[in-house]
Amino acid sequence: MSSTPFVAAGEPSDLVEEVRAAFAETYGVEPALVTRAPGRVNLIGEHTDYNRGLVLPVALPHATFAAVALRDDDQVRIGSLEQDEPWTGGPDALSSATGWAAYAAGVVWALGEAGIPVPGVDLLVHGTVPLGAGLSSSAALECSVALAVCAAVGVPVDRQLLIDACIRAETEVAGAPTGGMDQTVSLRASSGAALLIDFDEGTSEPVALPLEEAGLALLVTDTRVKHALVDGGYAERRADCEAAADALGVPSLRQATLSSVSAMTDDRVRRRATHIVTEIERVRETVTALAAQDWDEVGRIFRASHASMRDDFEISCAELDVAVATAVEAGAVGARMTGGGFGGSSIALVPVDRVDAVVRAIDVAFVAAGFGPPAHLLASPGPAAELVWPAP
Ligand code: ADP
Ligand code: MG
Repeated sequence: MSSTPFVAAGEPSDLVEEVRAAFAETYGVEPALVTRAPGRVNLIGEHTDYNRGLVLPVALPHATFAAVALRDDDQVRIGSLEQDEPWTGGPDALSSATGWAAYAAGVVWALGEAGIPVPGVDLLVHGTVPLGAGLSSSAALECSVALAVCAAVGVPVDRQLLIDACIRAETEVAGAPTGGMDQTVSLRASSGAALLIDFDEGTSEPVALPLEEAGLALLVTDTRVKHALVDGGYAERRADCEAAADALGVPSLRQATLSSVSAMTDDRVRRRATHIVTEIERVRETVTALAAQDWDEVGRIFRASHASMRDDFEISCAELDVAVATAVEAGAVGARMTGGGFGGSSIALVPVDRVDAVVRAIDVAFVAAGFGPPAHLLASPGPAAELVWPAP
């Protein structure tokens, strides 16, 4: 038994009961149904989604649960057990909702825009994905709400339509840029597998991730660092990538070659493009290594990916670098920062019997460096968003 206090995913049946009970107390009626949508952690492929590249995320066992009931009028009420400040408004107010409720109200708005006849609804969400840790609590929230509303309205569930509506909610209503990886994996993941998403082809396919068979755990460390510059940093990286594609005369960096990138004269733009082109190749290499169950090779690719993000793309930070280096020193097969960067989380592939030692080593290293305490969780690849109550 592990003695490490991990951030718990929670028992789905407990979370369903909690959100049902809170819904009845808040709104005075039973919900019609409850859905569950997972957060995610990306194995490899960072900032490649908006460059029409490849990503390889995994759905977390940590998820958001959304309870819903249709109303007789057109009002929308939205609450969360993780936030104060419930939101209420009519159909015209949905697209101008602010704060956390923008993610949920935005989904109801975007479903209407996509032609789903959404009446008034009461919604309550409750989940275990850490907020703002780079593990996509935002997509978990959006996807749980999107699936709940569609199921309650009774329209056939079209997962691509839901993905597109959730992306619109996040970009147009919440005002947060997103490349689409988070919503796609939350709605399309499968248990025991990562999801290879190709943003040029618009396709996705499961890639088996037999961690248990290999005696490995996927350890996620949330540095709890949220740099204020994150939004500006993300937009700047996107702009650099667009500038690189323009300079090379290609529609996106997916079409660029490493030799053409290497010849670029602007140092910063060349290094940004180098990361994207080599990172897309590393996603391919990871898929090949996983098929061969060559975990040492996966570890090597993780190290190369981290170095590329630290040195060329410049999206790491001191806390992420310490978490990654310490994990490897303490016995991880490989480690890298994951997500958008400038804080957030790192991942490490760790032999099961080394997990406690790696966690302790990271905690000690954080104290020694004068950082605040990180949080850890274990990512066993879970299923996509689904209806969980009433039992389907
Ligand atoms: P991440 O997606 O990595 O967790 P984001 O900044 O994209 O970080 O999204 C986090 C935001 O999403 C939170 O600050 C909050 O506004 C909203 N959010 C996510 N989950 C919930 C929840 N269960 N209840 C209320 N708001 C949530
Ligand atoms: Mg997010």
